[in-house]
Amino acid sequence: MIEITINGRTVAAKDGDTVLKTAREHGIPIPHLCFHPALKPSGACRLCGVETGPDSGKKMVMLSCILKVKPGLEIRTESDLVAAHRQKAFDRLLSMAPNSVRIRELAEQFNVPVVPKSDGCIRCRLCVRVCNDIIGAGAIAMVKTETGSQVGPGDGTCIGCGTCANLCPTQFITVQDQDNVRTVCIGDQVLSRLPLERCEACGSRYATAQFLAHVDDNTGDHVHARQGHRFCPACTKMMSSRARTENEHLRK
Ligand code: SF4
Repeated sequence: MIEITINGRTVAAKDGDTVLKTAREHGIPIPHLCFHPALKPSGACRLCGVETGPDSGKKMVMLSCILKVKPGLEIRTESDLVAAHRQKAFDRLLSMAPNSVRIRELAEQFNVPVVPKSDGCIRCRLCVRVCNDIIGAGAIAMVKTETGSQVGPGDGTCIGCGTCANLCPTQFITVQDQDNVRTVCIGDQVLSRLPLERCEACGSRYATAQFLAHVDDNTGDHVHARQGHRFCPACTKMMSSRARTENEHLRK
């Protein structure tokens, strides 16, 4: 047995043991994730950094899962140097696993501030702007939260046009057509669930009644709107190109 000092306290350590093992045996907390007693230490997570060196001498941070005890070794598990090292180590791990609950809980336990959990939204507000400024539905808004703001339901009613999902650069907003129903979601939250109407030509379900009514209200006297027909984009395209060919034929 030898003696080392951890946070000013003299503790007994087995010759050949690491600082992390010794600290664990004495109930002294040091964060770590990649250590397992059945495996050789690798230092991969870098969380277990401790400050070494005498109080009045040169100090440095070393990984306690690798550092072996030796007589007279002085260790600090909490210091400005250790805090800076831990911050870097937690930031690095969260850049690789941003939603890891275990890493976040460990950071909280050691009072290390970390970036808020990623929800997949980059707050570009494209969805909010298009729904308000172009569609005029006002169905999406920025909602204040404890940590800032997030996209959520607005005061208006979603008509299921899908424009927000088409513009969303991260696919945080999604539109799914299934069983003749269109579902618009903000992340995991369902914003609207609306039945789909049939195309009068091919019979496929292609748009919500609310969206078609919105188009009617906003196309006024346009010649195609006056005809009152409802065709899906594929049929509309096919009919337009057929009409164009016929016109060209007649002109010849
Ligand atoms: S699908 Fe709904 S929320 Fe999205 S732009 Fe259209 S009306 Fe707005």
